[in-house]
Amino acid sequence: MSGKVGKRESGKATARETIARLVKAEPLNAVLHWSQELLDAEAARVDAMGAPGALAAMPIALKDNIVTVEQPTTCASRILEGYVSPYNATVVDRLRAAGAMIAAKTNLDEFAMGSSTEHSAFGRVKNPHDPSRVPGGSSGGSAALVAAGVVPAALGSETGGSVRQPASFCGVVGVKPSYGRVSRYGLVAFGSSLDCVSVFGRTVDDASRVLSTISGPDPFDATTVNRPPMRVPKPLADLRGLTFGLPREYFPTDLDAGVAAALRHTADRIRQVGGEVREVSLPNSSYAVPTYYIIAPAEAAANLARYDGVRYGPRHIGSEGDIRALYRTTRGEGFGEEVRRRILVGTYVLSAGYYDAYYRKAQRVRALIAEDFRQLFDAGVDLLLTPTTPTPAFKAGEKTEDPVAMYLADVFVCSMSLAGLPALSLPVGRSEGLPVGAQLVAPHFEEERMLAVAGVLEQNLDAGAEVR
Ligand code: GLN
Repeated sequence: MSGKVGKRESGKATARETIARLVKAEPLNAVLHWSQELLDAEAARVDAMGAPGALAAMPIALKDNIVTVEQPTTCASRILEGYVSPYNATVVDRLRAAGAMIAAKTNLDEFAMGSSTEHSAFGRVKNPHDPSRVPGGSSGGSAALVAAGVVPAALGSETGGSVRQPASFCGVVGVKPSYGRVSRYGLVAFGSSLDCVSVFGRTVDDASRVLSTISGPDPFDATTVNRPPMRVPKPLADLRGLTFGLPREYFPTDLDAGVAAALRHTADRIRQVGGEVREVSLPNSSYAVPTYYIIAPAEAAANLARYDGVRYGPRHIGSEGDIRALYRTTRGEGFGEEVRRRILVGTYVLSAGYYDAYYRKAQRVRALIAEDFRQLFDAGVDLLLTPTTPTPAFKAGEKTEDPVAMYLADVFVCSMSLAGLPALSLPVGRSEGLPVGAQLVAPHFEEERMLAVAGVLEQNLDAGAEVR
């Protein structure tokens, strides 16, 4: 379906297959918008391209917080219902220029706030491996579509784990690049110092090809770094000469038994193919969740101030003439509970009397967390290996009444976001039929090596097999 680099695939045939698959996957509720006409138009466009491009008619789904001119962008929020952007995100232009076809806009936790895709204004997404379970979040729709075989790759976004965690729950590859490696122009802002467009792939190769297409500097995003785009890594024969650190703080004694077994198995394989494995420590990572849940809401409170019923989306009718009432009612009706909670927390930690106690302190701890990683990489550790999530996919409804339990689903993924590091989740086995992911973390801008290593592990592990 995806085609190899440079090989010409027929956009028309791929569009037809993709449409049939989208229809079949409807019960997952993974998609917010797609249309046959748009897919046909995408197919005609790629078929008319002179050269096939690196992605040769690959159908790709986009999380619905990435703006597109041809489809609405809702962020799964009532406050943006029906909103259509006047421009395309940079990543969308780059994908299309490489011959990819935009297949669908996918469901998410409202404004990317959540870890289960249950906080969508348009209903929860089901995990294709077990519909009673969540696909993870917030990019759950993109993860589910790749897992269901509808598309070989999809874009999501990460602020604190929103691609790696659902990739782990759905048994697909999920890659978060270094902060600044991929343009955020046209990604709806959540936490601007953390946000990264990130990639799901059926395989490491699919994810690598998409990431190399979208990476590289962009004059429209001043935080992109001036480095050439990532190259698709050359396959490695083995892992000789590479040192893997297993941070003890990421292997607590109460780790789920299936997850622990899958990680042991992965570490054994790393040794068998020549890698060296050693225990290391990241002492400040235990503060990552509280630190993240101060910084991300603070930035969100500022970023979401723009949804006021005046500039975007639907406006509350009935409070004309009173601007405060207009804001209050539009925002009160338009935002869901989790988004309101974040705005309240963010406003609180930024307020005059609490700024030093919460926000400034969190920024300091963030620096310590990043410093822990830097020291390990400076001391000769090439990559870190951790579980992606503390458990396999949990049941729908299990954590919706307890925000802190939901936040703890990100306990192994948000430190890398705070440090701006590249990291990925790779499916490494199953526990009671559910996928388990292992996480690799690399130094800044070493995506290429990280993906090459993931490729070796993909070849040497049976992700479909039960682990014990
Ligand atoms: N689950 C985290 C949150 O709710 C991360 C979200 C994300 O990475 N977009 O904020």
